Amino acid sequence: MPAGDPPLTLRDLDAIDVTRLRNVGRKRASSLTEMEINSVLDLLQHYPRRYIDRTKQARIAELAQGEDVFVEGRVERSSSRPTRRRQRLVEVVIADETGRLKLTFFNQPWQENSLQPGRQVAVHGRPALYRGSLQMTNPVVDLVGDRTGRFFPVYPQSERASVSTWEIAKFVEQALNRCQPRGIADPVPASVLERFDFAGRHTALNGIHRPATMRESSEARRRLMFDELLRVQLELVRRKRWLERHTAGLSHATGGELVERFLRRLPFGLTVAQQRVIDEITADLAQPYPMHRLMQGDVGAGKTVVALCALLTAVQGGFQGALMAPTEVLAEQHFDTMVALLDDLSVPDGSRLGGERPLKVELLTGSRGAADRRRASGGLATGDVDIVVGTHALISEGLQYKALGVVVIDEQHRFGVEQRAVLRDRGPGSVLPDLLVMTATPIPRTAAMTVYGDLDVSTLDELPAGRLPVATSWARGPLEEAQVWAAVRDAVGEGRQAYVVCPVIEESEALDVRSVTETHESLTGEGGELAGLRVGLLHGRVTAAEKDATMELFRSGALDVLVSTTVIEVGVDVPNATVMVVIDAGRFGIAQLHQLRGRVGRSRLASSCYLVGEAVTADAEARLEAVVASNDGFELAEADLELRGEGTIMGERQKGRNDLRLASLRRDKEWVVTARDVAIEMLDADPDLHAHRALADEIELLLGEQDAEFLLKS
Ligand code: ADP
Ligand code: MG
Repeated sequence: MPAGDPPLTLRDLDAIDVTRLRNVGRKRASSLTEMEINSVLDLLQHYPRRYIDRTKQARIAELAQGEDVFVEGRVERSSSRPTRRRQRLVEVVIADETGRLKLTFFNQPWQENSLQPGRQVAVHGRPALYRGSLQMTNPVVDLVGDRTGRFFPVYPQSERASVSTWEIAKFVEQALNRCQPRGIADPVPASVLERFDFAGRHTALNGIHRPATMRESSEARRRLMFDELLRVQLELVRRKRWLERHTAGLSHATGGELVERFLRRLPFGLTVAQQRVIDEITADLAQPYPMHRLMQGDVGAGKTVVALCALLTAVQGGFQGALMAPTEVLAEQHFDTMVALLDDLSVPDGSRLGGERPLKVELLTGSRGAADRRRASGGLATGDVDIVVGTHALISEGLQYKALGVVVIDEQHRFGVEQRAVLRDRGPGSVLPDLLVMTATPIPRTAAMTVYGDLDVSTLDELPAGRLPVATSWARGPLEEAQVWAAVRDAVGEGRQAYVVCPVIEESEALDVRSVTETHESLTGEGGELAGLRVGLLHGRVTAAEKDATMELFRSGALDVLVSTTVIEVGVDVPNATVMVVIDAGRFGIAQLHQLRGRVGRSRLASSCYLVGEAVTADAEARLEAVVASNDGFELAEADLELRGEGTIMGERQKGRNDLRLASLRRDKEWVVTARDVAIEMLDADPDLHAHRALADEIELLLGEQDAEFLLKS
């Protein structure tokens, strides 16, 4: 690469195959491919997991028993033999200038092959005395080769793909050296670099792979992490603005009678948070471009009322509203709530000047009879139906809306982007209806900024007054479990109801059904803890009609206890139910447990939640403890993020957006906000990034085509 050519962009680096590097033959290349390293760009973005600091290393002669240390040495010999228990035992001796150390590995047969005599290794472990001399058992080993310099990088995954961290370091070094003449381009504006005192990109890439000091590596990390966050935020903000500019929406008339009347008739006053979110939504609805808003609110925060205000705003201007729920149970429940809350509201009647007619709400689900469905879909096409509540049936082929104005999607994590897109296509003409997505699984603000950065986010962070926290406890043994069932019987004795939820076991529905059925039987059978009570059973295999019937019995109080799988997880609202028992609670995630707990405590009655069972793992224990300790969904979301990392949060929505390698939504919270601010600033000045072509280009490269598609659909 002759000097004089322009500096290398990430796209240039992406176009260079790793096989172009010296010593990367077919075998190495396939190992690298296993690690998803195909291009020089992939290689340079394969960042070290940690560094070995040579000055912290111990000499073999100075080792003491029982202290964690790191030693470096050369392998002198290695051998293996079977143990009495038929395991493979690998024995290795390493040496430095001061002495020898024996390493033993149980059940790691590959170590014999990788620790061949002559190899230079770094070993982390705790020496222990065995037959009079010190040795290490199952230490962590990195093949480091002949390295100079004080720090050397340890790369993730390498041993598994049978390429040593040392070899990767060599390849990286070679790649960086070959970039030297042209340099690596830095597309981030100089003013931004100056403001945050960032190193240039080339320097940062050198600094992260071969730092001279730890400070250099952390500065490098800071810079490269910012790049990742900035790219994501530029993309999200740009996408959001693009939609605002390029899609036609409805400018709803706000401030009308209908919403007013509805609110006046509520048996309670709105919380401050509800009022605030309603105002945010109303302001969006008045805009001529489509709303894309996410409403997050803890269970019981009162999202339904807010959603209804949005739907009624559409109706009062002559449009239709649709509310889509993830399950039939929930759709029906929403429908019942609406009918109760909207009872005898009337809407302006277009066919008679100044006339009014009753507001019409319809239910549309897959299991409704053909006649009902025909009536509902007919009404949607003619405009006789004002609000429709339903499941996926709302987006079924051929369903016509006269003038769909506002779409509300409840519990968004159950729906894919696809489905949202289809529903949005149902707007009048080429105009998109306004979209409100509701979720009861709140995520921390900075995470929301990244995961939902192309949506506006409203947060219901207040529960209606007078709610009692659900007293939560963890029943870990048979004695405590017996008390749980006593508590259930007591509650039923007082006229209350209870849920018993069994976990989903693996992917097999059949097994789940068996486990929940067995639980039901053992509880209700002769001598069972709940014998004599009226106990219903719900699981994934019952027909929709049976499910409805059982739910209805429970709702009406004809059942005392409902034993079920997680079908009741979201949204179910039976205020008289005051006890929630979760069996094998350690199998559930934090968000799920909190959701389940949210099924009780929905009235002024004191409620309790019992988490039953031993925690199988340390993580499970931490989850259960978190849920016992807090009733606050946002606090729990933070705890969850701590425990699980962001991978899971990013989940579905982030498919293809895998550019966050260094940045952590947890650790780098302030940087998420900063990157968003910088992105907004840049796009305010230059909406299409015309002056930042290189940056726009690498966003396209790294955030991928999948995302471009998403842009057009969402
Ligand atoms: P979620 O946010 O979990 O969907 P819901 O909308 O189902 O919550 O509301 C939970 C319960 O609280 C419902 O019974 C609802 O009628 C009631 N509710 C909603 N808003 C208020 C309020 N401001 N004051 C008192 N109760 C309210
Ligand atoms: Mg709800």
